[in-house]
Amino acid sequence: MSCDAVQQQLDACALEHALAPDGDAAAVESFAHAASCEACAAHLAFLRALDAELAAIPLAAVRAPVVATAQQRATRALRARERPRGFGRELAAALAVAVLALPLVVAQAFVVVESGAWLLAGWVPEAIRVWLGFGYLASFALGVGALYGSIPLVVAWRRRALREWA
Ligand SMILES: [Zn+2]
Repeated sequence: MSCDAVQQQLDACALEHALAPDGDAAAVESFAHAASCEACAAHLAFLRALDAELAAIPLAAVRAPVVATAQQRATRALRARERPRGFGRELAAALAVAVLALPLVVAQAFVVVESGAWLLAGWVPEAIRVWLGFGYLASFALGVGALYGSIPLVVAWRRRALREWA
């Protein structure tokens, strides 16, 4: 082992507060090397002094509400990152319900167009009635299209909200 490798190993031991010559094979070898190498012995002495000084500093206990808040935030952030599972199934269910409702929606539009044509038949010229029907159907199609197109967004939004606030 080179001195660099030994000192890196000793640093790793210091981070785990394990500055005694035991542990795994690499650690044991590093401590053995430090016993016979001036530079690494000095590094080890420095690490031990640092460890002792840090141990002497009293740490203020973190208040419980701060810990709880941090845990909640971390949990929320982790959940928000998880891959959405079951999104396809949920979307399919929502679309199935929407498609089942489609005949009713179309029937309602048909009734509006037919009854409008019947009501206006006596006193509005046919060309205008056709344009009124066309305009109504176009706006109706736009509205239904926007509604159905928003279903995936609503499902995704709902899933995200449930995950973040569960
Ligand atoms: Zn050395």
